[in-house]
Amino acid sequence: MSNIAFIGLGNMGSGMCANLADAGHQVRAFDLNPQAVANAVAAGAMAATDAADCVADAAFIITMLPAGKHVHSVYFDDGGVLASASKDALLIDCSTIAVDEARSAASKAGEQGFSALDAPVSGGVAAANAGTLTFMVGGETADFERAKPILEAMGKNVFHAGPSGNGQAAKTANNMLLGISMIATSEAFNLAEKLGLDAQTFFDISSKASGQCWSMTSYCPAPGPVAASPANNDYEPGFTVAMMLKDLRLAQDAADGASASIAFGKQAEQLYAQLDQEGLTGKDFSVVMRHIKNG
Ligand code: NAD
Repeated sequence: MSNIAFIGLGNMGSGMCANLADAGHQVRAFDLNPQAVANAVAAGAMAATDAADCVADAAFIITMLPAGKHVHSVYFDDGGVLASASKDALLIDCSTIAVDEARSAASKAGEQGFSALDAPVSGGVAAANAGTLTFMVGGETADFERAKPILEAMGKNVFHAGPSGNGQAAKTANNMLLGISMIATSEAFNLAEKLGLDAQTFFDISSKASGQCWSMTSYCPAPGPVAASPANNDYEPGFTVAMMLKDLRLAQDAADGASASIAFGKQAEQLYAQLDQEGLTGKDFSVVMRHIKNG
């Protein structure tokens, strides 16, 4: 069993930290929010007073923070992770951040003698709590192999996507696809309904035909066909419009940097920005169905 530091105990990090403690690891937990630390202690972790205290004895340092600027600050600020950790410790950042932010964090950490992985996740809070996340990992193969048993305590699929930043690249492309496919699925249900089919009839046909996709069969944006969909709970999240917008903006930035054409990704970003402006920021991203229906 390993000594693990866990920094960032929010919606996702709290369940991930608890699963590491449940698996028998010695976990020291830190968050700026004292209540989040108290919850982690109740779930079997030890409280740390700050980032430096958290990482002092750690073999693995996991961060689950809102955005790239938080990761860079927690890593590189005075009193931060790199100033306090052993150089043998492996840095594993599970936050969703920009590809270039992940690459620059790993390279800056490398210059200071540290190994670092980007390991963003797919699957929301339910998967974080259940330990069924999918990890997409970028970094050296040996570091990936070292991290794998730790990540397996928090997830059911752990993929090595290639060198540093490739985990974030996989995540950003995947979530752009999700954002687009949710809009396309919503347009299809709306069209079918306007042409005289009810949602269940269209679902029964299209889920067995070539339109089938995850946004339809696991997360149907039209109320009815998939019981667990947010559509059946007034579009309560789930995965919010704000989170989808963040991910589509990361995809746009990544595409700009790579000269990749993402015409539909750009349109998806604009549509979710509109939902955000309409005050639907905290609703599940599948609320785009309601927007299309009313539009
Ligand atoms: P969250 O805002 O609930 O949690 C982030 C936590 O980080 C907060 O508790 C905050 O207090 C803490 N924090 C911020 N700055 C800190 C610092 N300097 N030191 C210590 N703690 C600090 O966010 P979340 O929903 O848990 O998401 C975390 C990451 O996971 C994000 O990058 C998000 O994009 C990604 N993600 C979220 C989901 C989801 O469904 N929520 C799914 C996949 C990926």
